[in-house]
Amino acid sequence: MFRRIGFLALTCAAVFAGIPAQADILIKNVTVIDGTGRAPQPGQSVLIQGDRIAAIRDHAITAPKGATVIEGRGKFLMPGLIDTHIHLEGGRVGNSSNGTGMERPLAMDFDTGRKMLHGFLYHGVTSVQDMANHDKFIFAMRDQQRSGQLVSPRIFAVGNLLTRPKGYASSGGAATVETFEQGKQALDTLIAQKPNMIKFILAPRNVGGGPEIPYFDPTLLHRMFMYANTRGVRTSVHAVEGPMQRAAVEAGVDVLAHPVYMTETDDELAPMIAAKRLPVSTTLIVLKNIFSLVDDPSYFDSKAYRDILTDEQIAFFKGAERNRYIATKLDVWAKQAFGFAQTNLGKLHAAGAGLALGTDRTIGATVLQEFELIGDLGIPPLEVIRIATLNAAKYMGAEEDLGTVQEGKLADVILLDADPSKDLRNIRTLSTVVANGKVVDRGKLDLPVNQRGK
Ligand SMILES: [Zn+2]
Repeated sequence: MFRRIGFLALTCAAVFAGIPAQADILIKNVTVIDGTGRAPQPGQSVLIQGDRIAAIRDHAITAPKGATVIEGRGKFLMPGLIDTHIHLEGGRVGNSSNGTGMERPLAMDFDTGRKMLHGFLYHGVTSVQDMANHDKFIFAMRDQQRSGQLVSPRIFAVGNLLTRPKGYASSGGAATVETFEQGKQALDTLIAQKPNMIKFILAPRNVGGGPEIPYFDPTLLHRMFMYANTRGVRTSVHAVEGPMQRAAVEAGVDVLAHPVYMTETDDELAPMIAAKRLPVSTTLIVLKNIFSLVDDPSYFDSKAYRDILTDEQIAFFKGAERNRYIATKLDVWAKQAFGFAQTNLGKLHAAGAGLALGTDRTIGATVLQEFELIGDLGIPPLEVIRIATLNAAKYMGAEEDLGTVQEGKLADVILLDADPSKDLRNIRTLSTVVANGKVVDRGKLDLPVNQRGK
């Protein structure tokens, strides 16, 4: 639906304000990796007109008058990366490198949010889905992005979570529900904000373990899923224990926000998820980076991190945040959970389930790490690319418009200097980002890489 509205809005603005139409872009002689899993296609010409991919030809085409021409010889064009699970900084006070940090007080720090979004775009992430945040903050950011005021990846968002009183993530703005009548009210309130999805919590324990806490009865969950669906909104669930995830699947959830990571799953769950064609967000890096911050925090020294984080942010993670993990033994828990997540994602992939890239983090550079970690599961590179693009678009219900380099799709594409289908680490050779049909000036993004040494 947003395609038609977006197109009309753009046309009207151009006509009535007398603004010249956006320049066409022609990318010549490029190897296209289209995101469907198809083999790379060399020698292609890709024409972008307005916000769409207008033509892809296997021969040279004449550039329309005024077009920006990009020489693509030796380069690789693929869809922009999509992160199906983030929690944008700025909606809560302070920093958090793991999970929702939902216990922190609400904030409306748009400046921090904008800089973190620039960090995603800088690394070629052209869409993000926020999977729980301060609702007023994240929907305001989404409005700014959709209206063109904000240079940003496309923002999709769930807003507030839906959970049980005293349940996991119940503090700090979540809607809490005990009965179906309360559930209907909470859902009506959430749906009035036009969320891209609704996220429910089905967790009998906090992240890191601990005593049992209240969680949804599966019958109540089923009734709420159906209520949301009949109002045109898809549902997702945080369910990271085997029996809970199975209950959510049986109750009719549309997508899974994580693989199971509290235990190894039995051999029935993965085939059941595959048969129902439920997409699963991978969320490996949130676990890996917790124990790596304690064992070997050198990833914060990588170019990908240093380009987008300030020295102060890096010092915070390596100092206070690292000490917090050590004090709470969160690293010990995360290492075990990471192993379970890898095993269970392997079972899902083997069963034919659709994985979708998701980080559960706030930092754009983690998307590159997640991309590489999915490859470490033994999944071939072209499939990993599909998981990070087309499958992620399907996860968000946006595959008609996003996720592949194909005629008619929105022009969210990235150019790499080396072949990611040969080595996934070549995702770090990015040279150009095109978002919504416009070349992003990466040198003008509000990021430390563009400020250090000036
Ligand atoms: Zn999350």
